[in-house]
Amino acid sequence: MPQSEFELIDRYFRRCGAQRADVRVGVGDDAALLECPPGMVLAAAVDTLVEGVHFPRGCRADSIGHRALAVNLSDLAAMGARPAWALLALTLPAAEERWLSEFTAGFAALARVHEVALVGGDTTQGPLTVTVTLMGPVPAGAALLRSGASVGDALFVSGTPGDAAVGLALEQGRLEGLGQAEYLRERFLFPTPRVALGQQLRPYASGCIDVSDGLLADALKLARASGCGLEIDATRLPLSAPLRALGTERARAFALTGGDDYELCFTVPPQQLARLHAQLPPQQWGYTRIGSMRAEPGARVMGEAGELPLPTGGYDHFAQA
Ligand code: ADP
Ligand code: MG
Repeated sequence: MPQSEFELIDRYFRRCGAQRADVRVGVGDDAALLECPPGMVLAAAVDTLVEGVHFPRGCRADSIGHRALAVNLSDLAAMGARPAWALLALTLPAAEERWLSEFTAGFAALARVHEVALVGGDTTQGPLTVTVTLMGPVPAGAALLRSGASVGDALFVSGTPGDAAVGLALEQGRLEGLGQAEYLRERFLFPTPRVALGQQLRPYASGCIDVSDGLLADALKLARASGCGLEIDATRLPLSAPLRALGTERARAFALTGGDDYELCFTVPPQQLARLHAQLPPQQWGYTRIGSMRAEPGARVMGEAGELPLPTGGYDHFAQA
């Protein structure tokens, strides 16, 4: 057990993640001093994970460290920003050595992948709560916004939404007997924020949001912010093979309403589609067209035989699972 708060910070947080030359002062002083390149503006996001709310009680510590950073990386990805600096506010019931080293290992591994430096934070005692603030530069005027979509734009999603929600249900014992359960659990425990895709989309996408609350709900937020509606073609939803094993209807419901995906949902004007496909081949970059933006507000989901009733919240659906 580390002897003091000072020792704990020194041991676990002083050299966590990437080392960056633009960090003038990092962990150890009253505030961090960071150098933002000229011509860039700073994208900043914060997200809190509370035990029992955002992850199950007793969840493995490396997953909590990974997810606390991943959810913020996903927010910066959705803005088209390059992540650089993180602050970590950690509230712990007790300073357990093993938990702390697993937690920081999960956080640091993902931080290094994306060249993120941990530059400060706060450590307090209380119910397990993890808050990460992430900042990173984006060229002035080039950030992707929720409000940029127009009627007629094509609607896309990255990855295979729905997997993480099924993974969480498996993790909590609400679903059983599925093949590739390990893959699905991993999608919940160790999501892959689409950081490179977000930055690459800057010249092509008109609007972008990250999918954390469910594809349909988040696509609707994008549509509302842009003053339009949307139509999703359910037959185009990219469903992973393990998800399809649930049957088409349930798989689609998970893909549309399950949370915790941390994929990108974005729109592209028709005149940009050819360049998008040439420069960012969909197979290589892992995204799929799922619909279009339309004038009528709200969402419409189309199946093989016409319009489908809108699925309700993911949790209702799991209750029947
Ligand atoms: P203060 O009294 O200014 O709040 P602290 O004793 O809380 O300072 O923190 C000392 C230093 O350690 C500060 O630079 C702070 O940013 C850093 N720090 C504290 N907790 C964490 C943490 N969980 N992760 C990263 N840095 C931390
Ligand atoms: Mg403090």
